[in-house]
Amino acid sequence: MNTETAAAAVLDHWIDGASASPASGTYSSGTNPATGGPTVRIAGGDPTDVDAAAAAATRAFPGWRRFSAPERGRILRRIADAIREHAETFADLEIEDTGKPRRTALAEVENSAAYFEFYAGLVNLPVGDVLDVEPGQHIYTRREPYGVIGIITPWNVPLNQAARAVAPALVTGNVVILKPAETSSQTTMLLARLSAEAGLPPGVLNVVLGSGSVVGTAIVSHPAVRKVAFTGSVQTGRTIGRIAAERIIPLTLELGGKSANVVFADADLDVAAREAVRAFSANAGQVCSAGTRLLVERPVHDAFVARVAALAGELREGEDIGPLITRTQFAQVQEYFQIAHEEGATAVIGGSVTDDPALAGGFYVKPTIYSDVDNSSRIAQEEIFGPVLVTIPFDDEADAIRLANDSEFGLIAGVFTRDIGRAFRVADSIEAGQVFINTWSTGAVQTPFGGHKNSGYGREKGIEAMLHYSHLKTVVAVY
Ligand code: NAP
Ligand code: MG
Repeated sequence: MNTETAAAAVLDHWIDGASASPASGTYSSGTNPATGGPTVRIAGGDPTDVDAAAAAATRAFPGWRRFSAPERGRILRRIADAIREHAETFADLEIEDTGKPRRTALAEVENSAAYFEFYAGLVNLPVGDVLDVEPGQHIYTRREPYGVIGIITPWNVPLNQAARAVAPALVTGNVVILKPAETSSQTTMLLARLSAEAGLPPGVLNVVLGSGSVVGTAIVSHPAVRKVAFTGSVQTGRTIGRIAAERIIPLTLELGGKSANVVFADADLDVAAREAVRAFSANAGQVCSAGTRLLVERPVHDAFVARVAALAGELREGEDIGPLITRTQFAQVQEYFQIAHEEGATAVIGGSVTDDPALAGGFYVKPTIYSDVDNSSRIAQEEIFGPVLVTIPFDDEADAIRLANDSEFGLIAGVFTRDIGRAFRVADSIEAGQVFINTWSTGAVQTPFGGHKNSGYGREKGIEAMLHYSHLKTVVAVY
C-alpha cells in the first residue's frame, strides 16, 4: 500500500464559482482501486454546504436564464473545447479514481466533450407550438427551465455521466447542484473549474462532495431544487423517489440492468461473439447497459459459448480489464462467485479474483462466464456489476423473447440474426429502452437512453433529454 504519500491533495466543493471547504471541516480518503492505496482527501459535505450551493444556484438562475440562447451555446462549446484540451489530465484523474484502461478513459473524455458540443448546437430547441383553436385567439406553448436541478451521478463512468446530465440541463437554461459519487469525484471537480474558466457564471454549476446518504438526501430534499436526475442503483432510486413523491418534483431515474443479448443460429457468429465479449467486459462489466445475459439458440449454444469464452479468455486483467472500482464492489462480485457456486453453475472461464501477483492489492477479478444457467437463478436475475456473463440456451423466437423479458430490468438488448424481419420483430417485442441489432451498445450522444421496468424512467441523451430538463407553459391570448 502506498501509505507513505505525503500530504495528499485536497478536493473541496465548488460553490458559486469558487472552491469551498466543507462546513464540517471533515474529509474522507479516496482509494486507488488498482493498488488499494490512498488518493485525494475528499470534502465531507453536509446540508449546510448544500444550502450554500442552493443559495448560489438560486441567485444565478435569473441571470443565466436571461443569457441569449446562442451565448449559452457558445459557453457550452468552449467547455467542450476545454475538455478536449485537458483530455490527458481528465484521463489521469479518472484512472486514479477508477483504474479503467487509458483508452477507455480517453474515449469517455471525448464522449463527454461531445455532449457539450451536441447540446451547444441545439440551443434553440425544444421549440413550442402554435395551436389553432378558434378565431380571435393566439395560443402557443413554450418550454421553460425548471430552475435548480439536482444531479446525482455514480462511480462507474464519472465524467461522462456528469456531462450527460449537466450539458442538457444548462443549455435549457437551468442551474445545477451536482453530487458525484464520493469515490470518484476528481473529474467532476475539474469539469466545474474548467466550465468557470470557459465563461460559465458563478453559481450556474455547483458541485457538493460527500456521501449519498447525507449530501444526496440534502439535495433531493432541498426546497430550492425543482427536479432531480439520478443515475445509480435501484435501491437508491427508490429512496430518492419517495422524497421526490412527497415534494412532488419530477425525477429521472437511470438505474441498473441485466440486459439480454439474443443470438440466433443464422447470425454472423464472428461478429456476435466479438460483440458478446465487448458487451459484458467493457469497463469490467460496471456499466448499467452491460450485456450480461447471453441467450443463444440451442443448436449453436455450446459451440458459440466456447467461441465467446476463447475470446474473453484473451482479455488480460490490468490491461484490457480494469479493477472493480470500489472495495465494496470487489466484495460484491466475489459474493456472486460464491452464489454461482452454490447454485451449481459451471464457470467456463474465470469465477475468481485475479491470480496475477503483479496486481495484488488491486480489486481485479477474471472475466467470468457461467454456461447454460437457469434464467430464474440469482446470477441470471441480479445485477452483478462485474465482468460476469451468464449464457442461456433458447428454442425459438418466442422462447427468446420470453426469456429476454423475464427480468425485473429493461435497459437495453441486442439481437443477432441475418433474418431482418425477425430482427425487427424481436426488437419490437423486447421490453427495453433501446435495442441494438447486429451490434452491441454504442455511445452516441444523439441517441435517447433510459429504461423500462426497474431500469428507471425518463430519458437521458439526445434531443429527448431536453424535454426532461424543461417544462411546458401554454399561453392563451384573445384578440
Ligand atoms: P448508489 O448507492 O445508488 O450510488 C449512486 C449515487 O447515489 C452516488 O453518488 C451515491 O453517493 C448516491 N447515493 C447513495 N445513497 C443515496 C441516497 N440515499 N440519497 C441520495 N443519493 C445517494 O449506487 P452504488 O452503491 O454506487 O452502486 C451500487 C449498484 O448500483 C451497482 O452495483 C449497480 O447495480 C448500480 N449502479 C448503476 C449505475 C448505472 O449507470 N445505472 C451506475 C453505478 C451503479 P455515494 O456513493 O457518494 O455515497
Ligand atoms: Mg451506495
